[in-house]
Order: sequence, then structure tokens, then C-alpha cells
Amino acid sequence: MASELAQNLNLLMQSGNSLVSIETGDEQRATKVILETVALRKVTLYDWSMTRGLRKIDSDGVPGLPTVEGPKAAKALDFIEQSTEASIYVLRDMTPHCKDAFVVRMLRDLESTLEQRGATIIFLDATSLPDDVRRLTVRFDVGWPTTEEIEQVIKQTFKKIRKTSETTVMSTVTKRDAEHMVQTLRGLSLKDVGRVVASAIYDDFALTVEDLPRLVEAKRKLLGNMGSLEDIAVDFSVDDIGGLKNLKGWLRQRRGGFSRQAQEYGIEPPRGVLMLGVPGCGKSLCAKVVASDWNMPLLRLDPGVLYQKFIGESENQLRQALLQAESMAPVVLWIDEIEKAFASASGDSSDGGLSQRMFGTLLSWMQDHRHPIFIVATANDISALPPELMRKGRFDEVFFVDLPSAAARAQVLGIHLERRNRDPSKFSLPALAKECHEFSGAEIEQAVVSALFAAFTEKKELSDRHILSEFKKTRPLAVLSAEKVKSLRAWAENRCVSAD
Ligand code: ATP
Repeated sequence: MASELAQNLNLLMQSGNSLVSIETGDEQRATKVILETVALRKVTLYDWSMTRGLRKIDSDGVPGLPTVEGPKAAKALDFIEQSTEASIYVLRDMTPHCKDAFVVRMLRDLESTLEQRGATIIFLDATSLPDDVRRLTVRFDVGWPTTEEIEQVIKQTFKKIRKTSETTVMSTVTKRDAEHMVQTLRGLSLKDVGRVVASAIYDDFALTVEDLPRLVEAKRKLLGNMGSLEDIAVDFSVDDIGGLKNLKGWLRQRRGGFSRQAQEYGIEPPRGVLMLGVPGCGKSLCAKVVASDWNMPLLRLDPGVLYQKFIGESENQLRQALLQAESMAPVVLWIDEIEKAFASASGDSSDGGLSQRMFGTLLSWMQDHRHPIFIVATANDISALPPELMRKGRFDEVFFVDLPSAAARAQVLGIHLERRNRDPSKFSLPALAKECHEFSGAEIEQAVVSALFAAFTEKKELSDRHILSEFKKTRPLAVLSAEKVKSLRAWAENRCVSAD
């Protein structure tokens, strides 16, 4: 039985699409889907790459001798043009060749020829094709490996090593551990899954539950290489946030929003929250707390990495990142400083409309995707963003995170004292809170840290006096940029809900 993906690809070809593009970092998986589709269609498969030329592939996936040799794409296209068969031609890494006007013209000419004889060219690339060629093609998404595929690769890798290794290879993985492993490896290509599992086995010639942290670490490193999504380790609880009672209450209510019971009750899964506010008041902290409180991994979208110097690459990066987040769902997707990522999307941008297009991609994805992904977007200055962002339906709520109130400041102080093994009841928290008016949470934390140093140097135990002295030395950011904070508050007044 062919997979759903192969059936969909077949359908695409049946509907007369003669130029198909598959953009993926997982070439192995795409090849597998193509082989299945070829079997469904009972046609001949040819495979071209610069290094291997054009080769006929038999039904077991084994290539024959090159039909067309050499690295020139035009030569392979010429062969395709001359043929009369209804074959499938996979062309790998065509992006650089599509910069050649001759190749582009050949592809245009081929479009109708292929359609007439029921043949198809599949472009298989890790990057985006240039716009003029991409427009000729229909995109086919192979997505990310399913849990079943990952499970299969784990089993295959284990069996292969056991068969070929001279040392006895053991496995003590229970069904539950296996499920956990599969979950951990979601979002990786099948090749990477194989690699990561193999290294975990070779380490001690066993696959055990102790390998889990190793798998998590390997995945984090691989994701690091992927660039724009970063897997963040989180170990916080709601009690680590001082103040922000409205926001905390709101998040608490939506905690079970992705569960089957909630769905059966008729609850729409939560989509996300936007937090606008004064720097250092706990927005990022909230993103971390949501992930750990809801037991979901936290993925941070790094806008800096999204922007690439090649045309089309940035949008591709964003699409890949969103696809990857989908494949790892349920997850919390954190878009930090969203205004910086898409700043020029609101005005006349100097980037040829790139940030506008990127922003459009993000907004329509936010509206359309149906995956259990909770977005936490943070911003320090939202007036730089286009108003569409605030439209209902994108985010469930937009919160304004202001400087902490006196009560919240006392809580923040208590939290940071406790974090440094000090008993908060030994300090006059309400009195101290009065002395750090206009301080952000981050500034209060910094004062506690500095006070500890001062007390340590004096060889005394930390007391109110040390903290007070640090408060006196601090010029809070809110005072230094009072105008900015004022206008932020004014902007947020009728547009946002107060987080505290
Ligand atoms: P920025 O906009 O500059 O990124 P932010 O609003 O995201 O700032 P955080 O990065 O969350 O602020 O705050 C920095 C640090 O300050 C936190 O890691 C935390 O230790 C401390 N902090 C800030 N606000 C609070 C709070 N309400 N409760 C407890 N700690 C806080």
C-alpha cells in the first residue's frame, strides 16, 4: 500500500502537472516517496545530478550506468526533450543551473512537451528555485518524518548494528521509552534520526533509556545547525514570575486547551499570545514558563538567522522553520522581539518588500495552521509593526507588560532572594519594594546580584541595607527613557489587556 504522500504526488501528476518542485532538507525521504509514486504509476524513473549524470533507476531503486554523462543540466534536458516516454525525471540541485538563461528557456519549452506525453520533471532541492523557474512548477511538500517512520528507522538502525557488530548489542527500551524516543526525535530528517540513534548505540553497544538525554542533546545540536529554530531548555514554574497576575491566570485557564477532553468539550485550541511591554519585565520569562508549565518543548524562532543574503532564501528559511515546528508539535513557538524581525513590514521598506512578504507568510500560517502550536510573541515596540498583527484571530490576546507595581516588586524581590538561597521572610520586602519604584524585574534581580557581591566582600550576611544601597546606585531604564515608556503606555492603553 503506497503512503498517503505518494498517493498525493501521484494525484498531482495525474492532474497534468509536468513540473513539480520538492524543496526539502531530507533528500532520503523525498526519494522514498518518489520511488513509491513511480511504482504506483508504473513508469520509468530517471535520476540526474551534476556528479552522476542521468541514470535510469530500476524498480528496486538501483541505478544503471549513466544514460547522459557530465555535469551539464542542459545535456540531460536535451535527452528528456528527445524522449517520447511518459517517464519521471528527478533533477537534483537544479537551483544553480536555473541561473542559466538557456536552461530556463529549455524548461519553458519542455513544459508543454512533457504534458503531452504524460511525463514529469521533479526538481529536488534543498534550497528555493529562482522565482522564474519556481513559477513554472507546482510545489510538493514531503513534510517531516511521521512517528511511524521514525520508529522504523530506530528499529532498522538497531538491527543493522546488531547484525554487523562483533560486540553484543543490547536494548532495554520499554514501549514507553520507545515512544519518548520517537517524540524526542521528531523534527529531524530520517538520515539524522539514523545517525543520532547509531551514535547512541555505538557509545556503549546498547540502546537504553539512559540514551534519552543524549538524543535530546544531539537533536538540539542538529537544530542549532538548522539555523532559525532553537530548542530552549526550560526549567521554570509559574511561581518564578512576580506579578503579572492577569497573564498568569489567563495562561492557567488555557493550560489544558490542547487536550482531547478540551476538544470534546468544544474548546478551540489556544493559538497564541502577544506580549508588548517595557524591557526586562518578564516577557521572555513568561514564554519559558508556559513551555515548562504545559510540558511542551520551547522553540525560539531566531529572526536574525532567517534573513539570508540570497533572494528567496529567507522566505524558504521561514517556511522550513514553520514546517519544522509543525512536525515537532505540540510545541510552544517563541518569536522574540517580533518587531525587529519584521520591522520594515509596516512602512516603505528598503529590502524590496522582503520583510513584508515574510510577515505575510507568518500571518497566513498563523491563521491557517491546525497544529497544536502555541505562539508566544514578545515585542518592545509594536507601533513598528503593521496593524494586521493585532487583528482578532491571530493572537488570542494581546497583553501589555508594564513596570511591576509595588506588590509585584516585592514578589520579584522574594523570588530572586529565594533563588539565591536566602529566606525572603528575613527581609522587609514591602519597604524595599517602595524604594525601587520604576525598576523593571530584571533591574531588581540585578540589584540582588550586586548586593550579594557587596555583602560577600564585607564578609557579612546579605541584608536589607545591601539591597537598598544597590537600589540607590541604579538609574532605571524607565527613568532614563521616560518618554519612550510613556508613549508605549499611551499606545497600549486601548489596544492591550494589562498583564498585571
Ligand atoms: P526584553 O524585552 O529586554 O527581552 P523581557 O520583558 O523579555 O525583556 P525578561 O528577559 O523576561 O524580560 O527578564 C529578564 C530577567 O529579569 C528574567 O530572566 C528574570 O530573571 C527577571 N525578571 C523580569 N521580570 C520578572 C518578573 N516579573 N518576575 C521575576 N523575575 C523577573
